[in-house]
Amino acid sequence: MELNLSNKTALVTGSSDGIGLAVAKGLAAEGVRVLINGRNADKVEAACRQIGEQAVPAVGDVSSMEGVDAVLAVVREVGGVDILINNAGTGSNETIMEAPDDKWMDYWNLHVMAAVRLCRGVAPYMEERGAGVILNNASICAVQPLWYEPIYNVTKAALMMLSRTMATEFIPKNIRVNCVNPGLVQTPDWENTARELTKDSGGDWEGYLQGVADELAPIKRFCSPAELADFFVFLCSDRASYCVGASYYVDGGMKITI
Ligand code: NDP
Repeated sequence: MELNLSNKTALVTGSSDGIGLAVAKGLAAEGVRVLINGRNADKVEAACRQIGEQAVPAVGDVSSMEGVDAVLAVVREVGGVDILINNAGTGSNETIMEAPDDKWMDYWNLHVMAAVRLCRGVAPYMEERGAGVILNNASICAVQPLWYEPIYNVTKAALMMLSRTMATEFIPKNIRVNCVNPGLVQTPDWENTARELTKDSGGDWEGYLQGVADELAPIKRFCSPAELADFFVFLCSDRASYCVGASYYVDGGMKITI
């Protein structure tokens, strides 16, 4: 399938590792210039080296206004973007009774305000070009919560609603906004957690991850980042031209409701 993505430019937040890096690689393979983002400059440089000359570093903490400004300065330098993928994010672990307000606000800034601010920043370039694509990476937890991470569940649900609302506002400018809700994706983050949790009991971290998959996903395995990235790349292309304002589940059957 010809995706007609060559010569486009994309900003993928949180793309120095995990899902974001896989999406950036997938886009680069289709001829897209990709702006690689993360807070750690060394990791961003290492990811750029893996991708090659189509990668442009865009270091910045997107949960802060200053970080967003730094990233938007790179967007300005490259003359704007056709595609924005709001992917930077991370899980949490708390109870509602014990989590302080600051923690709620930090996650609100990372999962919601980063997307609001970056969309405001890139939409004028997309309008000028006559088209654009914005994808927000939320989570299955936006609709099917995991009990140990209420802040994650709530802020990802807000990101999903932001996507839906923004899609209606932006489609008159020919900017397609959609949301992707992945299930279990085997990123370094999951692997490190599994290593940590099993280090005192024999270190079978792969067995731990298999147990999680057996319990939560009918497909009984994790998704690979590259497998998920293919879906993002498709949604970025004109082949997905009628996809607007939707939330797509890539979850191996994990969502229980229809
Ligand atoms: P990883 O932890 O593997 O990678 C996260 C990436 O984001 C890194 O490049 C990290 O670099 C960057 N990042 C983190 N915080 C910030 C920040 N404040 N500003 C800029 N960059 C940042 O995460 P995943 O790939 O697992 O997750 C990516 C997204 O997918 C997240 O939003 C997550 O919620 C979502 N998701 C993941 C699932 C999974 O099973 N893995 C399932 C469903 C959703 P650095 O630390 O240097 O900043």
